[in-house]
This record gives sequence, C-alpha cells and structure tokens, in this order.
Amino acid sequence: MVAGPQLIRLAVFGQPVSQSLSPRIHRLFADQFSLPLEYRAIEARRETFENEVSKLAQGGGTGCNITLPFKHQAWELASRRSDDADRAEAVNTLHFRDDGWFGDNTDGGGLVGDLEKRRAVALRGSRICLLGAGGAARGVLAALLRRGPKEILIANRSADKAQAMARLNSDLGPVSATGLDRLRDAAPFDLVINATSLGHRGRAPELPASLFTDKTLCYDMNYGTAATPLARLCNERGIRYSDGLGMLVGQAALSFRLWTGESPDPAPVLAALREGG
Ligand code: NDP
Repeated sequence: MVAGPQLIRLAVFGQPVSQSLSPRIHRLFADQFSLPLEYRAIEARRETFENEVSKLAQGGGTGCNITLPFKHQAWELASRRSDDADRAEAVNTLHFRDDGWFGDNTDGGGLVGDLEKRRAVALRGSRICLLGAGGAARGVLAALLRRGPKEILIANRSADKAQAMARLNSDLGPVSATGLDRLRDAAPFDLVINATSLGHRGRAPELPASLFTDKTLCYDMNYGTAATPLARLCNERGIRYSDGLGMLVGQAALSFRLWTGESPDPAPVLAALREGG
C-alpha cells in the first residue's frame, strides 16, 4: 500500500490567540494542494512559551506562527534567522529544521506582495509615509526599502523610536523619521501606511490633508473592526484606502511556503475571508 502524504503539524502561539485567522487561512492553503494539515491555536504565557513550542517540535511539528506578545521571544529562540527578522528583532514564523530552528519575519513580504500584486502599487521611486514604529512597522521597513522607493518617512508618536528604526535601516535606502505630530509640513506621499494600533481603540491617526493627493493610497495594516476608523476617515475625505487583510494572507502564504515548499494562491483565501465577514 502506498502511504499518503504525512500530516503537517503547525500552530500559532499568542496571548490572546482565539481571534487568530491563521488556522483558517492555513487550512485553506493546505486544501489547494490536498495536504493533510493540523493547525492549532495555542494560548501561551511568557513563562510557558518556550516549553510549548518545544513540545510542538518534539511531537513532530513542522513549525509555527507567533503573534503578540511573543515575536521577540521567538526571535531569541531561533538559532538562525532571516535578515528581515534580525532587523525587526521579531520572528513571526519558526521552521523546525534538523540543524536548528529557523526564524523568519514574513510581514514585510506579505505587505509588499499585497501592495504590488493586488493593489498594483509601484513601490520603486515612490514616496512612502510609514505611521508607527512598533513591531509591525519594524517588520516591514526593510522589505519596503528593498523595493527601491525614493523616500520613506517614518512618523511615530514617540519620535525617538522612529529615529532608531531609521538609523538601523539606513544602509538599505533613503529613510528618515519624525514625530506623528510633525507631519503638517510634509509634502504629499504616494503611499501612507498605517502601522499604529490606534484602530483597536476605535481611533484613526490624525492625518493632515496635505499628505494626500487623489492618487495617494492609504494602506491600513489593520483589518476587521480595527480598520473601521481609518476606512471611514478616508471615505469622508475621498482618499483611496485598503485594509490589511491582504497583508495578513500574504504573510501567511510566505510562512506556508517556508514549511511546505508550496506557494499558495492568496486570492481565493482572501475572497473566502471577506465572504466570511
Ligand atoms: P505595537 O504595540 O508594537 O505598536 C503600536 C504602534 O502604535 C506604535 O507605533 C505606537 O506608538 C502607536 N500608538 C499606539 N497608541 C497610540 C496613540 N494613542 N497615538 C499614536 N500612536 C499610538 O503594535 P504592532 O506594531 O505589533 O501592531 C500595529 C498594528 O498593526 C496593530 O493594529 C496590528 O493589528 C496590525 N498588524 C497587522 C498585520 C497584518 O498582517 N495585517 C501584522 C502585524 C500587525 P509608540 O511607539 O509611540 O507607542
């Protein structure tokens, strides 16, 4: 008898984690290749995180995703890491390999793929404003700079964090930093990316109208209800807008490829998630 493909064991670790869309996304990816998949959502605590990940690896797991607040801890656990992960000091994907755990950060690739493929944004030569300097912004900056933009301005409530980020990545391209409250003097951008967590508090960042032309795309990394405040503001001001669900599916597709070698098509999965509300 010919044995079928082996069960692929994966999980996402977070706190909280029950809201994670990752189990659904990866099951839909696995269906595209008829691969048998077990993908669990595991709620961990700081003290138990490492032990829980080890249990998954020892139980024949292939790898895992990591979400808040464990991305930095996962970066520390990895024995080898991608450059994007090292620049962000954050890992969202671990791959358990025979020679150790490899850590990657696929957020940047997910964002760039969504912008270029789904939204047809030309990043080369563009002027980009990145709002925020938290884990999500740190995870995407290097990938954006590698696409050859004319300029990236990071604007964050705590300007010092934005400045540190700009310094760390200045070898990759033209990047500068300012305070979120200092954007009034900035010239219009081709792309404004919201990587703040304000949407989770029902708020949109305060954005001067001078940042936008009728061609500017405002890309919100938030999705679901957290995306509502900025979507509403853009709608009122006639600004082109996208939420970050495509980035979420895109970063998951890159993790899936790392674990299985297969490149899933994000488009039908994105459509299924939007239908599911
Ligand atoms: P962090 O907590 O690491 O960073 C939060 C950011 O928001 C910081 O820049 C912080 O500024 C800023 N911020 C928080 N409160 C305020 C405020 N009252 N006024 C102004 N700025 C504020 O979160 P992450 O970077 O991990 O996540 C950011 C967002 O991106 C989240 O909403 C998350 O859901 C989303 N995300 C989406 C992904 C996707 O795949 N679509 C992937 C990852 C994240 P300061 O530094 O001054 O505190």
